Amino acid sequence: MLTQAPRGTRDVLPTESYRWQFIEDRMRKAAALAGYREVRTPVFEHTELFARGVGDTTDIVQKEMYTFQDKGNRSITLKPEGTAGAVRSFLESNLYADPLPCKMYYLDAPIFRYEAPQSGRLREHHQFGLECFGAPGATADAELILLAFRLLKELGIRNLSVNINSIGCPECRPKYHAALKEYLAGRVDRLCEDCKNRFERNPLRVLDCKKPGCQQEVKDAPSMLDMLCDDCRAHFEELKACLDGAGIPYQVNPRIVRGLDYYTRTVFELITETPAGNLTVCGGGRYDHLVSQLGGPDLPAVGFGMGLERVLMLMDAEGIQIPRPDLYEVFVTYMGENRGRAFRLVESLRNAGIAADMDHCGRSLKAQFKYANKTGAPFSATIGEEEAANGTVKLKNMNTKEEKTVPVAEAAETVRKMREEAE
Ligand code: ATP
Ligand code: MG
Repeated sequence: MLTQAPRGTRDVLPTESYRWQFIEDRMRKAAALAGYREVRTPVFEHTELFARGVGDTTDIVQKEMYTFQDKGNRSITLKPEGTAGAVRSFLESNLYADPLPCKMYYLDAPIFRYEAPQSGRLREHHQFGLECFGAPGATADAELILLAFRLLKELGIRNLSVNINSIGCPECRPKYHAALKEYLAGRVDRLCEDCKNRFERNPLRVLDCKKPGCQQEVKDAPSMLDMLCDDCRAHFEELKACLDGAGIPYQVNPRIVRGLDYYTRTVFELITETPAGNLTVCGGGRYDHLVSQLGGPDLPAVGFGMGLERVLMLMDAEGIQIPRPDLYEVFVTYMGENRGRAFRLVESLRNAGIAADMDHCGRSLKAQFKYANKTGAPFSATIGEEEAANGTVKLKNMNTKEEKTVPVAEAAETVRKMREEAE
């Protein structure tokens, strides 16, 4: 128990964190290219924010939140998604008073959902998310879809299908709600228990159910796209024109509705096929009324969330090698009585910006070399009897076996030269 992480959580170990850093670095660059800057918001918020923001008919709010009373008797919830917190901070700091749009991203944000853990589904996962506030135009929606697509493509993920849909606005959706409800009314008995409930509270959500039985039942359901009002239709057409212009493959999929209440107009998912079924790696859309719903001005917004674990899972599945950085560039080996000299050499290498280390465990010289090999350090620097007597160090390229003995003071510079020569 004591040495077992809670169900549905995963450690990122020191030996694998470079993989996370690699994709995080690409994500930051992708965001920066489009003018998105990082926002960091707390891991927990007042429960009310999610109940109102995410919507209390959603699975997330009804079943999946980690909610508790804190010692001051406030109801607190660990972030079950990233958007509500971003909107809250946008409002709290009056960022809407700055020139709009306001573009922000969050990265490596832990997200908590009480779900049944399985492959690609954790109780704590991490998301890269972007939010763009104050831009009503479809170019903003298109920019986000393209950003996500380009990023995943550049990471090497093939097999990506971009699914887009429009779920209309408060003007045209009620008509669709009614049509969908009528369609589902004769089928309620055959829906799963959750969907029976959704039918009552929010019939749109039935389209999103992953159970094959329910998917079968909604196969011929009416499509929102046939009932969009003129403005929503024009918006959707412009989005498609932008994507066409960018030349990316996409499909209009009227089954995409997303699990959160706040969406309006554009919704999208980037889906990949895996042997275990389809996996959504990125999902997002427009939420033109969330900002005002949370007490702010009437400002449109659009955003997406991308699961980091799922990105890494897909990269693994496609056999994409992420370059593993060297732990050390130089490993210093020494005869026991030269430990002090070795320590000073390590420090001088580090001061010169070269990753270096030495044995701290009393190993023999031979064992030190064995250890150095295991670390994968491309250079060793040895201080034996002779070197100690002469104030020198013997540098060795572990791959080419080339050796050079130089004064200790020249060690860092010589390593640099040897590295350049070997390249
Ligand atoms: P799903 O339909 O798979 O349940 P979702 O619609 O609940 O996903 P979002 O709320 O859109 O997911 O979250 C955005 C992204 O975060 C998802 O596309 C996915 O990559 C990732 N994600 C969501 N839930 C989990 C989870 N439990 N474990 C790991 N990643 C997740
Ligand atoms: Mg979910």
